[in-house]
Amino acid sequence: MTFTEDDARRRDAADPGHRDLFHVPPAEGGRYGEVAYLAGNSLGLQPRATRDDLLDDLDAWARLGVEGHLEAERPWLPYHELLTDAAARLVGALPAETVVMNSLTVNLHLLMVSFYRPAGARTRIVIEDTAFPSDSYAVRSQTRFHGLDPDETVVRLRPRPGEDTLRTEDVVDLVRREGDGIALLLLGGVNYLTGELMDIPAITDAGRAAGALVGWDLAHAAGNVPLRLHEWGVDFAAWCSYKYLNAGPGALAGAFVHERHLGDPAVPRFEGWWSTEPATRFEMAPVSRPPARADAWQVSNPPIYAMGPVRTSLEIFDRVGMAALRARSERLTGYLEALLDEVAPTRPITLITPRDPARRGSQLSLRLGTGSAGELAKRLRHEHGVIADAREPNILRAAPAPLYSTYHDCWRFADALARTVEEAR
Ligand SMILES: *Cc1c(COP(=O)(O)O)cnc(C)c1O
Repeated sequence: MTFTEDDARRRDAADPGHRDLFHVPPAEGGRYGEVAYLAGNSLGLQPRATRDDLLDDLDAWARLGVEGHLEAERPWLPYHELLTDAAARLVGALPAETVVMNSLTVNLHLLMVSFYRPAGARTRIVIEDTAFPSDSYAVRSQTRFHGLDPDETVVRLRPRPGEDTLRTEDVVDLVRREGDGIALLLLGGVNYLTGELMDIPAITDAGRAAGALVGWDLAHAAGNVPLRLHEWGVDFAAWCSYKYLNAGPGALAGAFVHERHLGDPAVPRFEGWWSTEPATRFEMAPVSRPPARADAWQVSNPPIYAMGPVRTSLEIFDRVGMAALRARSERLTGYLEALLDEVAPTRPITLITPRDPARRGSQLSLRLGTGSAGELAKRLRHEHGVIADAREPNILRAAPAPLYSTYHDCWRFADALARTVEEAR
């Protein structure tokens, strides 16, 4: 490769990121002590601060028992409020529009209870054909819940023949053409498989102009790309916190409901005791009094030990800032792309993520012409200590997470790929 290992090391010295804030797993194979971790889009690494923060919350329970609800250093009753402002900043929302709760697919369901209300001829839900399976199952089950046939009701957006990613103009055209029949557009902000960043404001505008509601799954967008949900007029959104947000497996997810829907009595909702105004919660009244905030979508009292790590993680994002992270992400991802352009053309490897940095986040997806992606990922890991993510049969995903991934990680990935995938003769 024309890009040398020394060159990668020089780039790291000049643009160091925040790797020191994270635990990087040791490598099982290869020449280096730590893995080259390019799977932060799947499960982010553990911040060093997480353990002590979590232990503090656990100690409060040991010390205080039930009194911890009010007397813990971070009292459990209003614990979720400690996360709201930082989560709102991360997605460009007002605090009243934002809540950290549940897990992602659960939030999608709770939000569809409110915002998927098929009526008359307006019944359809539009998703990407390559939507994450959980989203596909969720929308299909929602249509059945309303007595509709998912095969007729769920519209799946496909790229043009011979293309791998969607074009905004095609999505907008479909919404204009078939808008009368569309109740809800629910797309991934960044597609989990291809890494394509959708034009969220343009598609949101088109959907709303057609009279549909527009929701976004931001699992691969939150903490990856800058978002301005309030300004873009997005109706609702949800995201998980264990990918780019580094809050640990199954960590609590986020939800956004646009201000225009808050406090609207016409919006139906599933409720529990956490849906009511906190000041009156312990009156134990039979009828809820939900606040005009996204908090009204909460149902149960939240699991503190799944929420604490979200708080720790959001503090890092607040400190570093999404603008700086996005800039570093573009540099790292552009460098990885340049490396892959040296390795891929002579091998059965095709980059399917958009080339335009404005149309992608940190992830680059590769399609293999031969062999299994899972087998390749195993060899990269065991022979080279490189962690990338395989989606069978033939997609390999590599995401340099801008907080902790390095140029050297990118170089190791490209070098390992070159050594593992044989050149086509
Ligand atoms: C990761 C991911 C999920 C996972 O859903 P959970 O409810 O957190 O298990 C769902 N949808 C998308 C688009 C994802 O990327």
